[in-house]
Amino acid sequence: MIMQVDVAVIGSGPAGLTAAIHAHKSGARKVLLLEREEELGGILKQCIHNGFGLEQFKKDYTGPEYAERLIKELEQSGVQCFLNTLVTDLSSHRVITALSPEHGALEIAAKSIVLAMGCRERTRPSIGIPGTRPAGILTAGVAQRFVNIDGYLPGKRIVILGSGDIGLIMARRLTLEGARVIGVYEIMSYPGGLKRNVVQCLNDFDIPLHLSHTITEIKGKDRVDGVVISKVDSNLHPIKGTEKLIECDTLLLSVGLIPENELSKKAGLELSAATRGPVTTEIMETSVPGIFTCGNVSTVFDLVDYVAQTGAAAGTGAARYALGQVSRSKQSVDVVAGENVRLLFPQRYSFQNDLVLFIRAAEPVEKPVSIEIMPPGSRINRLYARPNEMVIVKIPKEKLAEVKRPIMVSIREK
Ligand SMILES: Cc1cc2nc3c(=O)[nH]c(=O)nc-3n(C[C@H](O)[C@H](O)[C@H](O)COP(=O)(O)OP(=O)(O)OC[C@H]3O[C@@H](n4cnc5c(N)ncnc54)[C@H](O)[C@@H]3O)c2cc1C
Repeated sequence: MIMQVDVAVIGSGPAGLTAAIHAHKSGARKVLLLEREEELGGILKQCIHNGFGLEQFKKDYTGPEYAERLIKELEQSGVQCFLNTLVTDLSSHRVITALSPEHGALEIAAKSIVLAMGCRERTRPSIGIPGTRPAGILTAGVAQRFVNIDGYLPGKRIVILGSGDIGLIMARRLTLEGARVIGVYEIMSYPGGLKRNVVQCLNDFDIPLHLSHTITEIKGKDRVDGVVISKVDSNLHPIKGTEKLIECDTLLLSVGLIPENELSKKAGLELSAATRGPVTTEIMETSVPGIFTCGNVSTVFDLVDYVAQTGAAAGTGAARYALGQVSRSKQSVDVVAGENVRLLFPQRYSFQNDLVLFIRAAEPVEKPVSIEIMPPGSRINRLYARPNEMVIVKIPKEKLAEVKRPIMVSIREK
């Protein structure tokens, strides 16, 4: 028998929890949250450091504390949760196929759906480091799970490749647990993670960050016993003669995150080449009407606060769709990247709400910049633009009412 719901939310990280809460608050009565793990909370469960919710709640929570706050709110709503439930398929007609030991094989027809499956880490094959394939190479998120949830130290002499936030946080965490983090090596000429994490996780612990460096070989037979690092030129190619062998027993990779979009592909959603998540409007609706998206499955956000913000918009949008309250009076226009913009979210404007833009610069500019949004002709000044810090700009709906052509966003030096 097919189960019928108003709104189905897939994934219970901060995006999915917030979306489910807001779908219920906005009037959808039958809201179902599906989560493949045995507990709610997503990646926050293993993020035991602080720094969560500074913007949203003006509090400095750890990941589990932040999740608990949302879970309590969810429990007081009428949202139904199916845990240990893996969604295996999604059709463009909004039919979900899922498997769970408790409920068996499920088919769920939803009036609207929110995708909140988060993202996954890039691994060694995705960056193609040559060398042997010994034990001791793991992604920073897996190491975080080992240390914070399973109570297992993955190594004692550690090299980290990539300076994404998870790698920076793990440099500090492993140091506090007694391991020696020899250094963090970053191929770009600027760090991948937030400045606050470079300061608090590396500088405060005297862990060196080597910019414009990469690993060109992994040594070791059964277990990693060293890595060869090399400087790179401006085209990111290793420079011959700069190779240096570093002895270590563990290599952590913190080389990027990718939206978890297998289900998005199955539903036939249009994907963005830049974010690798679904192309989305300002109300978080994808290219398939009634399917909404939020959080890191849409684009990888810097902060949980932004994830929750998109969750709230997606939950509200999904409830309104399920209740038949969405009216489309106009076609949508694209939002496109201009000068020095690497990615933008959302990528489409459908004239239903204010446009809240998340913008990531392509190259760092360490002097005052102007962020230009044309049309409507808005200019916002900032002291700098950095690829590792998203810029958020809000354009009121009224200013966009007459827009007829694509909205171009550019970052220019002043
Ligand atoms: C190591 C680390 C440190 C961070 N530090 C900070 C910080 O200090 N401050 C801050 O603001 N932010 C921080 N963040 C960012 C923030 O935690 C994340 O951006 C946020 O948790 C992502 O939320 P999400 O809901 O999009 O995804 P997730 O939390 O990843 O949740 C996705 C959920 O979907 C479920 N799921 C996936 N596929 C399926 C399926 N097919 N069927 C059923 N369920 C499925 C998963 O099991 C998971 O529970 C950090 C992130 C990481 C990884």
